[in-house]
Amino acid sequence: VLPRLQGIEKSIWKEYGELAEKYKPLNLGLGFPDFSPPKFVTDALKEVLNTEDPLLHQYSRPTGHLHLVKVLANLYTRLLQRDVNAETEILVTLGASEGLLCAVTGLVGEGDEVIIIEPYFDVYVPLIKIAGGVPKFVALKPKSKTDGISSSADWVFDPKELESLFNSKTKAIILNTPNNPLGKVFDLSELTLIADLCKKWNVLCISDEVYEFMVYKPNEHIRIASLPGMWERTVTIGSAGKTFCATGWKVGWVYGSANLLRSLQIVHHYSVYGGSTPMEKAIAIAVEKELSRFGEPDSYFVTLQNELKTKRDYIVKKLSEANMNPVIPDGGFLIIADWSQLESRIDLSSEKGDNKDERFTKWLIKNIGLGGIPPTVFYNEKNKGVVENFVRFCFIKKQENLDKAAELLMKLN
Ligand code: PMP
Repeated sequence: VLPRLQGIEKSIWKEYGELAEKYKPLNLGLGFPDFSPPKFVTDALKEVLNTEDPLLHQYSRPTGHLHLVKVLANLYTRLLQRDVNAETEILVTLGASEGLLCAVTGLVGEGDEVIIIEPYFDVYVPLIKIAGGVPKFVALKPKSKTDGISSSADWVFDPKELESLFNSKTKAIILNTPNNPLGKVFDLSELTLIADLCKKWNVLCISDEVYEFMVYKPNEHIRIASLPGMWERTVTIGSAGKTFCATGWKVGWVYGSANLLRSLQIVHHYSVYGGSTPMEKAIAIAVEKELSRFGEPDSYFVTLQNELKTKRDYIVKKLSEANMNPVIPDGGFLIIADWSQLESRIDLSSEKGDNKDERFTKWLIKNIGLGGIPPTVFYNEKNKGVVENFVRFCFIKKQENLDKAAELLMKLN
């Protein structure tokens, strides 16, 4: 293994995927739905397959199927209230994952520092290392110790600490709102503070907004690219997989000024060349449909949020009945919960793992049959203690499986 890849060989998703294979728990670990995408989305793919056009099965336009970049440009022109150019300001990628890869390897050079806000989607650090950059961390921590149910909005960074990380070597900051795993939706004052520091230090912002259409009222998703002076220095990443409950379709995108996107397009061009034509065309049809009913009560984006909110409220209730203290997410479909109240009643000594939450999640899979993810993987070594007593669950699951999870949780009492 090359020196710059050392230390990033271990992947939590591989390890917990293998555990799930072996013990077959009810799996609330990985972040994806256990139900099919909505009918208008699967119908869109059927429509593509029923269209007699041989080109729909051949290489796509490298930076994205023209129909898809056009509807995405319309969508974000509306959301950002600025003109987004379909041909130069959007890059369609193989999921948000490839968008992140293109953004980090296209914008970060050898020795460049990149600021990450913890907890963070765990691929950011390996990507920065692959690019030869140096990650710097600032942690979100709860404002005060709470004993009951709390909110993701209570988890904040120390502005002074964040400011102290900016220097002449800083190339970029990676923002993730709504955040995985916390579900925190950054508010205007937090985003303004980050934006002001980016402008002061001439730093880029890589904004991972894959959960942008899953924000619970009265919270509002604010796109940092829409703040004054930020369009020029931000690339924003989106995911059709998350948005349309079709993570296996692997369609994502990046939008930003043509200037910045140029570097990402080069990485994309020489690594994957282009995406999957039928999938991109189907997502184009789905986004177009959604645009035609945007904001209406029966639109998918509105019903999705309502359905997810019901699921969120259900899991919050069941976790607290099981003596766990959930941190209510304001966005996304992931939730963390503090299990310290259970600690005296369970024996984790037979489980392996550097951190307590790893031992707890392994114990939970084997003894209760419930899969979760240890949230310490989303913090760097220094700050793992912040979440050592937590577990992360994914709640975008069928009601019957949430009911089963609730029954399993009751076994903890
Ligand atoms: N960013 C975040 C914050 C995520 O949680 C995920 C998926 N877990 C991704 C990016 C990757 O998204 P995609 O499936 O579209 O590649």
